[in-house]
Amino acid sequence: MANIKHLGEFGLIERFRSQLKTRSPRVIKGIGDDCAVFSSKQDTLQLISTDALVESVHFDLKTISAEQLGRKALTVNISDIAAMGGTPHLAVISLGLPQSTSTRFLDEFYSGLQSVCKDYKIELAGGDTVASPQQLFINISILGEARKDRVFTRTGARPGNQIFVTGTLADSAMGLQLLKTGKIKSTSSKHCRALIQKHLEPIPRIKESTLLAKSKLQVTSMIDLSDGLLQDLSHLCGNDKLGAELYEAKLPFSQALKNVCQQKGYNPTDWILQGGEDYELLFTIRQEDVKKLESLFLKADAPVSHIGEITSFPGKLVLNKINGRKKSLKASTGFNHFKRSQRS
Ligand code: ADP
Ligand code: MG
Repeated sequence: MANIKHLGEFGLIERFRSQLKTRSPRVIKGIGDDCAVFSSKQDTLQLISTDALVESVHFDLKTISAEQLGRKALTVNISDIAAMGGTPHLAVISLGLPQSTSTRFLDEFYSGLQSVCKDYKIELAGGDTVASPQQLFINISILGEARKDRVFTRTGARPGNQIFVTGTLADSAMGLQLLKTGKIKSTSSKHCRALIQKHLEPIPRIKESTLLAKSKLQVTSMIDLSDGLLQDLSHLCGNDKLGAELYEAKLPFSQALKNVCQQKGYNPTDWILQGGEDYELLFTIRQEDVKKLESLFLKADAPVSHIGEITSFPGKLVLNKINGRKKSLKASTGFNHFKRSQRS
């Protein structure tokens, strides 16, 4: 199989360029110059975000295909733009490639990138390609725009605000667990396959975020769920300035999660609270806007669930359990790279 030594850096870049077909009207100059050139619109603010993926830390090439990896690498960046109410326009990528990387792997990886570029009308407008001694390294930076008065941030939630989340939670975390522990075959149950797919092919909630941004609703705070519900909720609480109450009965989960939890004797609520890599939107609105929000989401792809309320009790996260009891929760149970609490 051809590997990258035969092509060299410039041959590789030319090969990448020929695979990237999506153009954004905002990008004046894409691959081929020293910088990409972006034309911004009046009355907008630019949003910039970057995310790195390191082999063995964030992905395992035994369980994710090159195409899925390309899709996921870009998706997690798009999710950050969605988290602030923006529209993504342009991305750049840095690749650290081991000498043994095959051109077939890279073709498939770029095909994954290109398919996401097409879905969300993003131009991959440049990058950098270097050798890496051992492991594959990917960094993508993304640039988007939001209307000046419609940038949603993590700060701004107030006591009495209502907490909402899109989609279902913990599918991805359970999918990862299945990949790590099981010998997953194509004959695995459809539930297991659905959970694994959620882990390998997350969907960025751009449509839902755009609905919110174009509406007149006051979104008082928003974040995308990457480190688990509790940990990300504590960011909306200003870490420990405010508190929150969650209603166990309202936490959204899929049939697939319920089924696998039943089979394995797991408590789905624990998974939902700690999760990780859900890439759903978690946000707060004022109590008086709840009805408007629910009717707005009739136009969305993902469902939205009303899961709780912000309180004025500093750092207190409380779960109202289905059995009527209250339980104190710890925010520190999600993912933290340098504590290695969950993923390794
Ligand atoms: P420079 O030396 O000026 O940094 P490079 O030779 O690294 O330029 O890159 C040449 C062009 O190819 C630039 O426009 C750069 O953005 C683009 N490029 C480099 N690597 C990649 C890649 N992996 N994917 C897409 N574009 C890339
Ligand atoms: Mg360079």
